[in-house]
Amino acid sequence: MTFDHLGLRPELMKAIRDKGYTKPTPIQNLAIPAILHGRDLLARAQTGTGKTDAFALPMVELLSQQPNRLKHPRALVLTPTRELALQVGECIQAYARRTSLRCTVVYGGVSLPPQIEKLKKGIDILVATPGRLLDLAGNRHLRLSHIEFFVLDEADRMLDMGFSKAITEIRKLLPSERKTMLFSATYSSEIKKLAATMLQDPAHIEI
Ligand code: AMP
Repeated sequence: MTFDHLGLRPELMKAIRDKGYTKPTPIQNLAIPAILHGRDLLARAQTGTGKTDAFALPMVELLSQQPNRLKHPRALVLTPTRELALQVGECIQAYARRTSLRCTVVYGGVSLPPQIEKLKKGIDILVATPGRLLDLAGNRHLRLSHIEFFVLDEADRMLDMGFSKAITEIRKLLPSERKTMLFSATYSSEIKKLAATMLQDPAHIEI
């Protein structure tokens, strides 16, 4: 299989070529069509499977079909750590820069004002760690009421790191009408519980 049959716009096909990818990984083959068809997703996948591109590509494809007239983000990707947030941000940026979409990364442990400035300029896709996201939303620098796509990346690690309450708080700030994708390397009973509260009739993928 190649990327050709997945129905991605030419700008994204070019970005895929620039990354040097010749064919989709198994998770990309399964997740990209499911997300493009508007399904929620529960995916069990380890790092290294190509999971980031598996949600980044269809998300950028769908968002770029409708230009943003607002400054508020339309997609939110939560990650457990700053390192992963930066890595995911870089992956998405390689696609977003081919479109008119703007992507920004925010995380804790650094000063707030530069991140607030970035948000003020207007963004489409926000990649964030949970604590800093709540700080920004609590200070009213960030409105999450326009989120259409919500991704929980490495959800098991987020729970291990004690972010369960933060995730619940964040969910309350999101519209109930949204697409949600949950990625986890393991399926513990906690992950199943989280999936049950977050996802609606998800497609299940196991790699
Ligand atoms: P991830 O599982 O998202 O952490 O990705 C692991 C690595 O696989 C990253 O370095 C990606 O750039 C790379 N990758 C993702 N998709 C593909 C693909 N279709 N072909 C080759 N490499 C890929």
